[in-house]
Amino acid sequence: MRALIVEDEPAIAEDVARALEDAGFAATLARDGETAWFLGDTEDFAVIVLDLGLPKLDGLSVLKRWRAAGRDMPVLILSARGAWTEKVDGIEAGADDYLAKPFEIGELVARVRALTRRAAGHAHAVLEIGRLTLDTRRMSVAIDGTPQKLSPLEYRLIDILAHQNGRAVSAGELADHLHGADDAVDANAIEALVARLRRKIGPGVIETRRGFGYLLSGA
Ligand code: CA
Repeated sequence: MRALIVEDEPAIAEDVARALEDAGFAATLARDGETAWFLGDTEDFAVIVLDLGLPKLDGLSVLKRWRAAGRDMPVLILSARGAWTEKVDGIEAGADDYLAKPFEIGELVARVRALTRRAAGHAHAVLEIGRLTLDTRRMSVAIDGTPQKLSPLEYRLIDILAHQNGRAVSAGELADHLHGADDAVDANAIEALVARLRRKIGPGVIETRRGFGYLLSGA
């Protein structure tokens, strides 16, 4: 799943990006408000981490513009500790969660995961979809209760499919989610990845809907 991190302090931005990559997200960085607004307006992200104090355009204005344009991805706001008016303004502007700086990176990851789960209609960290069990905290997958040994890329593919509310995802969209829009990955590579995964976990877990893409059986 793609995550946009909007933060002008390089050390924080890189810490957050690394932690989210470790948690299975493909992270894209934006260092000013205008770039952030454009990316959030034109590309699809599963979640956005948004600092408020930004060059060119402040985070609150960015958020208001996205919401006014009907962009409804989950947004977690980062702000200075104790600035409770910022928190209220942020939530009124359409933020889904809020974290004060300095924060524990583990808490940020947990909150980001919870936001993406809720956006996909799941209230718990463990998702049961058909024969598949996905534990988003342990980053593990079981089929009919049997744990599966998956590569990080294979896990991320299943994680993406599990967060779609039963919508089929095209190979091109999966490539974007897995690698970010910067790297060109062709659809053939995704088809090869799905084929390898099907051999590993057995048929009947990942379905192909012709003309639309992939989805999990029972989703
Ligand atoms: Ca800042």
